[in-house]
Amino acid sequence: MSPPAVPAALHPLVAAFLDDRVAVRAALRRFGSPLHLVFPQVFADNLTALRTVLDGVPGGYRICYAHKVNRSAALAATAAHAGIGIDVASAQELRSALTAGFGSDRIEVTGPKGAALLRAALAAGVTINVDNLWELSTIAEMAETTVPVLLRLSGFAASAPSRFGIDHTEVERAFELLTRHRDRLRLLGVAFHLDTAATQERVAAVGDCLTVLERAYAHGLTPTVLDIGGGLRQVFTADAAAYDAYDQALRVGLLGRGPAVHWGLNSFGYQVTDGTVHGRAVFHKYANTESAPTMLGELLAAPLPGHGGRTVSAVLADNLLQLWLEPGKALVDHAGITVTQVEFVKQVGSGTTLVHLNASRDTVTAADQEVLIDPLVLSEPGESSPTGVYFAGHLCLERDLLTQRQVRVDRLPDPGDPVVFANTGAYHMDLSAAQASMHPLPARVAVRHRAGRFVLYPDTVYRPGDEVR
Ligand SMILES: *Cc1c(COP(=O)(O)O)cnc(C)c1O
Repeated sequence: MSPPAVPAALHPLVAAFLDDRVAVRAALRRFGSPLHLVFPQVFADNLTALRTVLDGVPGGYRICYAHKVNRSAALAATAAHAGIGIDVASAQELRSALTAGFGSDRIEVTGPKGAALLRAALAAGVTINVDNLWELSTIAEMAETTVPVLLRLSGFAASAPSRFGIDHTEVERAFELLTRHRDRLRLLGVAFHLDTAATQERVAAVGDCLTVLERAYAHGLTPTVLDIGGGLRQVFTADAAAYDAYDQALRVGLLGRGPAVHWGLNSFGYQVTDGTVHGRAVFHKYANTESAPTMLGELLAAPLPGHGGRTVSAVLADNLLQLWLEPGKALVDHAGITVTQVEFVKQVGSGTTLVHLNASRDTVTAADQEVLIDPLVLSEPGESSPTGVYFAGHLCLERDLLTQRQVRVDRLPDPGDPVVFANTGAYHMDLSAAQASMHPLPARVAVRHRAGRFVLYPDTVYRPGDEVR
């Protein structure tokens, strides 16, 4: 018995690297396992695709790479070299951005900030995307020169409540602070960040922001920027139908109407009651099939309600507004993989097979999110005998399974065989990375394809140059 396969989508460059089995094993010998690999050239391809869409925006634009998706210095340096901006969310990310070569005029600090981060931001002279009124008044108190600020807005009529941003009921007080401290605060514009795939929700937020901008002009302020944040989606699966088939097999198993493909009592957020499966699974955003450039194009071309059918892009230009965006995962989509190795294979209970890897769950995913794209097992060629296995981790914890669902493998792997988790570059490799049981963090290595060869560099040693093709 084996569950349906869920094949990973791969960038051609990453696929070519993985096809070179000698190169993969050499990388593991040189840098150890598990190993995080980043591909700056793939990052550059993603950037080019977004720029192609944005080049049609008449009012102009700025892309700020959201650093928090990956701590890689190579990717940050690639972004700096490509001439875009960066969005940082901690003092460490701010230092990383400065080291990568970003000038202060290309750095924006977002997220929740304490006094220490505010001081660091002011010292560096970067733009501050303000989360709340305490922050705004603290900046005014601390500032010795004029600080460029964006107001992050929140409480949009069409969106779920958010813990971030300034609620529409507090905008008036923000304007009072901005007008009172004109010498210290310069309002560049307003911002939002919605983690949604729904274009209409973003369009509605743009509409709400335009209203706030009009009120700002009425206060004599002169904002010129509308920052629409990140949230553009990734495409993980090479086959959306296969994904749906797996989801179906999972539900059938949860109901007990077919073989279980879930580990223990894990139901991945689904609830089983009265013979049906309810709710939603916590599978990250694996089901998405729309690429980031497509999503962005849709947003820019969407008619903005109340503007006589004019598109978002046209209305921004009409209002002399520059569009800013903060893509994280869209820029890193397919630009990172995690390579682990099989330690051993064992049987537990009746017919359950565990493939033990020398990595832990937090190496490849945040604790609550199941990896729903099959890892690639790079065994030596042999006879095919498909079977379902669980991938187990090296921590002494019952919950340390890299997959709490059965994965179809073509045949059982051997110790030492590489097992590759695809597309881990955005959040997966970093968001819950831990050093439990004193295991060190995996090495991070940048891969460059040049003159038909793959060259590997320790992440911090990589120097960008020819990525944009
Ligand atoms: C995380 C974050 C982003 C990036 O989001 P993605 O979904 O990775 O594009 C952008 N802006 C802000 C404020 C964020 O917190």
